[in-house]
Amino acid sequence: MEGLTNPLDLPVAEMAARVRNIDDPLTASELVETSLLRIEAIDPALHAFLRTTPELAREQARVVDARVEAGEDPGPLAGVPLGVKDNIAVEGVPLTCASKILGNYVPPTGATSVRRAVDAGACIVGKTNLDEFGMGSSTENSAFGPTRNPYDLERVPGGSSGGSAAAVAAGMVPLALGSDTGGSIRQPAALSGIVGMKPTYGRVSRNGLVAFASSLDQVGPMARSAADARILLGAIQGTDPADATTRDLPAVTGSGAAELAGLRIGRVEEFSLAGVAGGEPMEAAMGDVHKALEEAGAESVELSIPLVKSSIPIYYIVAPAEASSNLARYDGVRYGHRTSDAGALQALYAKTRDEGFGAEVKRRILIGTFALSAGYADAYYKRAMAARSALRRGFERAFERCDVIVSATTPTPAFLLGEKVDDPLAMYLCDILTVASNLAGIPVMNVPAGQTEDGLPVGMQLWGPAGSEARLFDVAEALAETTGHAYRAPVIPAGGDA
Ligand code: GLN
Repeated sequence: MEGLTNPLDLPVAEMAARVRNIDDPLTASELVETSLLRIEAIDPALHAFLRTTPELAREQARVVDARVEAGEDPGPLAGVPLGVKDNIAVEGVPLTCASKILGNYVPPTGATSVRRAVDAGACIVGKTNLDEFGMGSSTENSAFGPTRNPYDLERVPGGSSGGSAAAVAAGMVPLALGSDTGGSIRQPAALSGIVGMKPTYGRVSRNGLVAFASSLDQVGPMARSAADARILLGAIQGTDPADATTRDLPAVTGSGAAELAGLRIGRVEEFSLAGVAGGEPMEAAMGDVHKALEEAGAESVELSIPLVKSSIPIYYIVAPAEASSNLARYDGVRYGHRTSDAGALQALYAKTRDEGFGAEVKRRILIGTFALSAGYADAYYKRAMAARSALRRGFERAFERCDVIVSATTPTPAFLLGEKVDDPLAMYLCDILTVASNLAGIPVMNVPAGQTEDGLPVGMQLWGPAGSEARLFDVAEALAETTGHAYRAPVIPAGGDA
């Protein structure tokens, strides 16, 4: 059967190795054309992409192929088609953040993460859909229409990196970049059955990522397997003079599976979904995973981090507070959309912002402005920051007693389009298992953990202390071998295969 595998469905290491091998007929150009054809065939049913960038991808592929011809090594991502979330800048390609407020803005330079991926041989085939400015958990807050879940077109793919998740899950690209402020890589990865990692705060440069909440934002990889995600993170990681929050951390390199025997697996009481409506399939899947881990010789460590219970209220003060400040720059004066109906300067600001921002973004700006305003900042923002520090210490203490924490990623599987979009609180509760890691600054990845009776993906999280990404990848690979849970291609009714 091997000869029948479409090269785009190969593991990334193999795909790139074949492109790098001058004696192998597979080229970067062929991979790019296959990816573009698949997008053309499948994406009308999903709307994972806001735009494709065929000329850019073809030019990048030509460079890779020419380097191979010249006997050079184009790098570990040679010829691999990449989707980029549309809040991450690609030089010369319009950047929307799925918002009307950016108008026809074209960034003059690209993000460091994007440049590093391209330097490693990746070819950018398009910009993927998201909740406006990354605010949401379903991709329904996009000003350009929602993305659909490849496993059930009536359901959401999660968010905010829902376009990247659906693009990878549907096989249109093997890799995509996402961003994660409170779960936006891991939650859509979980609902779409793929792997996604939020790295340690400071591992990946945010230069060129449009800021949502600067003390929480991280760029990270989305892929079909831990091995593939590791290669992308390996390419984009590292300090960057253009982002002063980047720091030296043990590099993610190599590959391999961890020894599960003797590994101390933390089970945090506050992550239990017992009694949460719709949480039964996740609880069942987590039970199976813990059993498999114990059978493989891992040691279970029961833990409690009480402040985890407050992570939603902490996050929904801190993130909107930072967002209200970051989004002040969209004023109709410097760039992007400007109202055609302005009077005085104040009216220009107000009308531009009213026309340009969607409802959820406005809600966040209002919450954040309130939480920071004189007379309230002590009661809300400062209290939230103190609780955040205590939560961070809670995780530090937990990792003195265990190597990895294992939890579910989402309280339920993928929900229906329209189900929560008019109920902000219900939408915020999608993040109960993800936001704590952003508050603590620690790395966490989602990996597949099986599926529900209806065939919807179930995901689980592996959490580690700061800088421990390499170990998380090792554990993910070992776990996939032990449980057999892995990415499984969806059948997309309205689409076809290229
Ligand atoms: N869903 C969360 C929010 O709406 C997280 C978003 C994100 O990580 N960008 O804020």
